[in-house]
Amino acid sequence: MKMKTWFERAIFLSWYCSRGDCKFCYMSTQKSKIKNPRLAKRKKESIFAEAAICKACGWRVEFLSGGYESYDIGELVEITKEIFKITGQKQWLNIGVLKQEELKKFKPYIEGVCGAVECVNPKLHDKLCPSKPISEIISMFKICDEFGLKKSMTIIIGLGETEKDIPLLIDFIRKHKIDKITFYALNPHEGTIFKKGPQTGYYLKWISGTRKAFPKLHIVAGSWVDRLEEIPELLKAGATSITKFPSIKLFSTKFARQIEEGAEKAGRDFSGTMTRLPKIDISRFDEKTGQKIKQYLKQMSKNS
Ligand code: SF4
Repeated sequence: MKMKTWFERAIFLSWYCSRGDCKFCYMSTQKSKIKNPRLAKRKKESIFAEAAICKACGWRVEFLSGGYESYDIGELVEITKEIFKITGQKQWLNIGVLKQEELKKFKPYIEGVCGAVECVNPKLHDKLCPSKPISEIISMFKICDEFGLKKSMTIIIGLGETEKDIPLLIDFIRKHKIDKITFYALNPHEGTIFKKGPQTGYYLKWISGTRKAFPKLHIVAGSWVDRLEEIPELLKAGATSITKFPSIKLFSTKFARQIEEGAEKAGRDFSGTMTRLPKIDISRFDEKTGQKIKQYLKQMSKNS
């Protein structure tokens, strides 16, 4: 029987981050432009509609993602609870470092928490993420252990690290008993110091090195529209699933088909669809969310 693979979509909640100074991050280019952080967040109906689309297309929600301090915790707990209800899937949170009393509130609705580590070379990390120390993430992981929550991490390849840093990642995963990791090939944002992403061969070395060390780890690999030809290689190198593709905007385009075909080329069985328009019973949702679902479906049907 063929091994399965699938697409995972991160649901973004906001485009503000109070830390806002990680050298590669889009949010760092926005912080000074945002006068009122509370307004720099998505409307709830748009978030819930996106969750409904994910469920209907068979995409897993990779995590709920947002910058530090863009929402108050009560509001975030309600959003997480609703997404759990819509998808039937306990969620992963990637919304910065959370304290014990905060995590407790999310516990019924989440599978685990993601630490946005980004780079495991300590010196480079401190330069790139001056306001986001790894020690804070590690403290949060300890609370996860107390609560029986799973732990995931993100890592970006192409920030100036080298192959010699792969053992540092392996040690980190082992030491903190990481359950899931998302790799991204750096996608340079305008206004940051970075100009190009990593070569495919180098990106693959990180994934295959990690897979070799951890045969059962859930490895998610990011691929951007201009890197889709590497999908079969990412899967063969050991990625469990694929992320970081604008799957609603480019639904059913030649790019979306490239993901399904890439899975086929890698000998995997692709669960869900990037190309077949789903049917959603919008009567199950409130009016605003239903309207938003219709809008998304209309956008997705343009290429179908
Ligand atoms: S903490 Fe996260 S969201 Fe904030 S600037 Fe850094 S990478 Fe971006």
